[in-house]
Amino acid sequence: MPASTSTRVFHRQLHHDLPVAVSGQGISITDSAGKAYLDASGGAAVSCLGHGHPDVIAAMHAQIDKLAYAHTSFFTTEVAEELADLLIESAPEGMSHAYFVSGGSEAVEAALKMARQYFVEIGQPQRRHFIARRQSYHGNTLGALAVGGNAWRREQFKPLLINVAHVAPCYEYRDRREDESAEQYGQRLVAELSATIEQLGPENVIAFVAETVGGATAGVLPPVPGYFRGVRELCDRHGILLILDEVMCGMGRTGTLHACEQEGVVPDLVTIAKGLGGGYQPIGAVLAQARLVDTFRQGSGLFQHGHTYLGHAVACAAALAVQQVIRRDGLLAQVRSRGEAFQARLLEAFSSHPHVGDIRGRGLFWGLELVTDRRSKQWFDPDLKLHARIKKAAMAEGLMVYPMGGTVDGRCGDHVLLAPPFVASEAELAEIVERLNRSIDAAIRSAG
Ligand code: PMP
Repeated sequence: MPASTSTRVFHRQLHHDLPVAVSGQGISITDSAGKAYLDASGGAAVSCLGHGHPDVIAAMHAQIDKLAYAHTSFFTTEVAEELADLLIESAPEGMSHAYFVSGGSEAVEAALKMARQYFVEIGQPQRRHFIARRQSYHGNTLGALAVGGNAWRREQFKPLLINVAHVAPCYEYRDRREDESAEQYGQRLVAELSATIEQLGPENVIAFVAETVGGATAGVLPPVPGYFRGVRELCDRHGILLILDEVMCGMGRTGTLHACEQEGVVPDLVTIAKGLGGGYQPIGAVLAQARLVDTFRQGSGLFQHGHTYLGHAVACAAALAVQQVIRRDGLLAQVRSRGEAFQARLLEAFSSHPHVGDIRGRGLFWGLELVTDRRSKQWFDPDLKLHARIKKAAMAEGLMVYPMGGTVDGRCGDHVLLAPPFVASEAELAEIVERLNRSIDAAIRSAG
């Protein structure tokens, strides 16, 4: 097959001209022309162990040889139970069960339904509203799209079926006022959430849904100190559930297994995916507090939901191996130390770059926000599609970065998301920054 071709498979773009990926090793993917690309975004923050990891591949082979698939209405499997045990051992306090699905959107859908069913079962069926944030992404299925705050993705599918009120995201670079500290800004956001809860009637709200560290909407958006503690207190005061979506930022990406550990909060439900299976198999999960699961157990005896591939044995085997390698090889500590080195390189390369307004992130999860100039923080004209130009220039350089752009909540912006594999060496991280620097400059030149 030629390196670049018009194919019969379509993904998002119908006019695409993508290279054909044929193999992957370490932090690189190679196309059919033999060109290698450094995977600086882990796809979309997925490939935490890079590509071709022998331990994960061996675990998948072993599982296929034993049993590839058994439907969950007939069986559980040893491998799914072992994975659940491992995840619950290191889960936020009070979590007792894992519900395995095939990806992030499915995890979010399941969490939304668990939250709703919980209130129906405890005799509060009037709770029908979710609250989520404007700069957010929770997936492309209809429920996940309804809670998501990306106007561009939502627009043509409205009216979406779920009642969702949206509040401001935690976007310090743009929204913190000069006369307030980061903490005060966080308190202001919590006050806005409180006002929205009062408007809806606290007794009518099911849950607040948020990415602990924002991902696929506006670069990387880490929360300000105290914000999530304020959110947690508010939810507790009104008996509202807190659903944290850690599909992208979870499973070690920010330097702790769950990003919420750094916020000192415990959610009622947490969704995980991407780094759970590291891309070796499609898998996601909802981790749930015992209180919710016990309610179902003592009430209807079931969670009214399900998909054919729940708890797929080979997917669970891949995820189990990925999670074991992370523990065995001390990769969380490595994310923290390499993350610091990566941050230092990014700051060195871009902190006085005229068109990089902000560099923010945690661990090995970083975003750059592009601006026409640093003082006005003005975005580039969206018609220039700078993010797409950066991606194109990066691919020419042999570099994969995850570009973001388009209208979000009436706001546009161009961002680059970086999420290199946890196994990337310092030399590879340095190479990523060099290639990215050249790519950004080439993209800006091409935009005139
Ligand atoms: N939630 C978040 C926070 C995500 O970043 C994503 C994917 N970018 C999703 C949900 C949806 O996951 P998936 O694409 O696996 O359905």
